[in-house]
Amino acid sequence: MSAQIIDGKAFSNQLVEKISEQVATLKHAHHFTPGLAVVLVGEDPASQVYVRNKAERTKTCGMRSIEHRLPADTSQDALLALIEQMNIDDQIDGILVQLPLPSQIDDKAVIQAIAPQKDVDGFHVVNAGLLATGQQALVPCTPYGCLMLLQDHFGDLSGLSAVVLGRSNIVGKPMAQLLLNANATVTIAHSRTKDLEDVCRHADILIAAVGRPEMVTGDWIKKGAVVIDVGINRVPAPERGEGKYRLTGDVHFDSASEIASAITPVPGGVGPMTIACLLRNTLVAATRRRNIAIDNI
Ligand code: NDP
Repeated sequence: MSAQIIDGKAFSNQLVEKISEQVATLKHAHHFTPGLAVVLVGEDPASQVYVRNKAERTKTCGMRSIEHRLPADTSQDALLALIEQMNIDDQIDGILVQLPLPSQIDDKAVIQAIAPQKDVDGFHVVNAGLLATGQQALVPCTPYGCLMLLQDHFGDLSGLSAVVLGRSNIVGKPMAQLLLNANATVTIAHSRTKDLEDVCRHADILIAAVGRPEMVTGDWIKKGAVVIDVGINRVPAPERGEGKYRLTGDVHFDSASEIASAITPVPGGVGPMTIACLLRNTLVAATRRRNIAIDNI
């Protein structure tokens, strides 16, 4: 293996430390504590873990964590009423509704009901539009985390050729916008892309966000490219015992790391950056709403 490992866990810990310092300063100088409200509808096991981790990290960095756990049969109207209440609650700076939602609730209606200035997931069309037009937005956490890792690695991304594999609204599209805003030359690839492997082989930066375990192998990668693996896939791991699973990315790590110059591992790469960026977005939302200037983090 020759590639440098991009350690998202260490980077995210440093980021959370900086956020904690800023939160402490806000308490001292401005007498308020940013608050993040997370809503979980139903009992999806993976969502429960995500919500618990988010709440713990929020408290660790000194912010207030507000949790709403609603039954799986909650109506859309009841959820929208809760969001409306949180939109006008001055104690709440960020609102996150954990996805996926039960089938009786329309995800899009819920996301658009969140006040854009409290939309710490960055999924509201207002924030998507602001990002697409290069204006100040709340940016989706996972792609922002990827951008931070890339900027830390390269410094300047100007002129680099980036291929984003995946075009979802939560990862692929905002990732491409962020790279474009950072002056990279961006290609977005997806399931209809022709000669996909060849497209990928032209990338100085390859971002894989397809949700297909280990799809991208070393022979898809340009020698010396930097590979960011967003994928989180649970695959059977009988070698660990009956019924056991392991997490793997969208990139075949062993073959890719022979060719790439740097690569994010799964777990320990992009994943930890997502929660850290959620905390960052909450801090940013809290201070923007109050017109308080903070150091750029
Ligand atoms: P989606 O399923 O919403 O999007 C997947 C994208 O990949 C689509 O644009 C799809 O193309 C494309 N795609 C799927 N199969 C292929 C293929 N065979 N060839 C080319 N393109 C393909 O996924 P998300 O964007 O939500 O997530 C992507 C991955 O990132 C998942 O593994 C997910 O678990 C992970 N993830 C990780 C996070 C983290 O914190 N690290 C956060 C969010 C997601 P098309 O549009 O044509 O269908």
